[in-house]
Amino acid sequence: MSGSTRLLEVSGVSVTFDGFRAINNLSFAIGPAEMRAVIGPNGAGKTTFMDIVTGKTRPDTGRVIWGDENISLIGMSEARIARAGIGRKFQRPTVFEEQSVRDNLTMALKADRGPFNVLFWKPSAEERAKVEDIAATIGLAGQLDRTSGELSHGQKQWLEIGMLLAQDPQLLLVDEPAAGMTPAEREHTTDLLKSLAKHHAVVVVEHDMEFVRRLDCKVTVLHEGSVLAEGSIDHVTKNQEVIDVYLGR
Ligand code: ADP
Repeated sequence: MSGSTRLLEVSGVSVTFDGFRAINNLSFAIGPAEMRAVIGPNGAGKTTFMDIVTGKTRPDTGRVIWGDENISLIGMSEARIARAGIGRKFQRPTVFEEQSVRDNLTMALKADRGPFNVLFWKPSAEERAKVEDIAATIGLAGQLDRTSGELSHGQKQWLEIGMLLAQDPQLLLVDEPAAGMTPAEREHTTDLLKSLAKHHAVVVVEHDMEFVRRLDCKVTVLHEGSVLAEGSIDHVTKNQEVIDVYLGR
């Protein structure tokens, strides 16, 4: 994969549900240290797009190339795709509320091993240091011994991003990361995503245009399962077709 400017490439992908074409000849590519916002009205195909990339939904036609592997053709399981370096954060945080921040991050280091192994596993000094590094990255260094259920909504979202980071992803797919956050939390989330995009590919699926503007990254607009426009936020929001279908003017 080194030397390649594309980490993920989706090419000519279509998905049909009961005769309804949810994704229609979609092509998309992202490099190894790039942030991309994917926007579009309800029903545009954003969730299905993420499902395709993570192997939850298999395309009828087209290819999903991850590094040198054609994910859609070799039949990789969803778990194997996650282990291959694709991390997905759903909108609702799914942290273990009764566990401390440290324990959540520590368990995430071994997320692919299942709960039995984690119970009988003592992290090494290196693994403990990794947990502390991740906590610093997500802004929770001072909260490591707090019970996760006591965290604010924003802090839980950052913890979940940290849990993905524990699995060393190369690509992070994040669904509406700033939904329900306070202005200060949104600012922190913007900074966090920008700092992650220095070393990871980050795809942010988002409705909130103001938040997308702050991310200051290339934007892909989906509509009826296809790419309608791509470019800077200023470029796509001036596109008449985007205005018509997405902004509803
Ligand atoms: P978005 O996330 O942009 O709102 P989705 O990817 O959820 O869009 O959906 C795209 C289209 O596909 C919608 O019209 C939706 O109703 C349809 N769709 C999604 N999943 C299914 C499914 N499992 N069965 C039938 N239709 C589906």
